[in-house]
Amino acid sequence: MSDLCPCCSTLSYADCCKPYHLGMAKPASPEILMRSRYSAYALHLIDYLIQTTHPASRKQYQKDEIEHWAKSNHWLKLEICMANQDKVEFKAYYLNAGTTYIHHENSTFKKEHGIWYYLKGSYFN
Ligand SMILES: [Zn+2]
Repeated sequence: MSDLCPCCSTLSYADCCKPYHLGMAKPASPEILMRSRYSAYALHLIDYLIQTTHPASRKQYQKDEIEHWAKSNHWLKLEICMANQDKVEFKAYYLNAGTTYIHHENSTFKKEHGIWYYLKGSYFN
């Protein structure tokens, strides 16, 4: 099927991350938000990435930098290593100039007025 969700959930995009991207639903957990943000990178939905970043962290994540990072790589797949109440450890595989890289991050999420946001990430080498 060609309309599988980029987040590797094995669901169709329409049944997975699309409702979040369209603003029709809010992710109920950090893991779901993380998946929808990965899909947003893959689909170049930069505004969604800004909107789902916690307001207190937005200054650190400039729109043009996010856009460049999203568009200069080809996003291959997402692996969730661990997810708990407010953290998600994941590996995002991407292709850049013919080489495959793994972005390995432990992200922290914060709930504000019932909505989950990406707060910050720490990176593994
Ligand atoms: Zn998805």
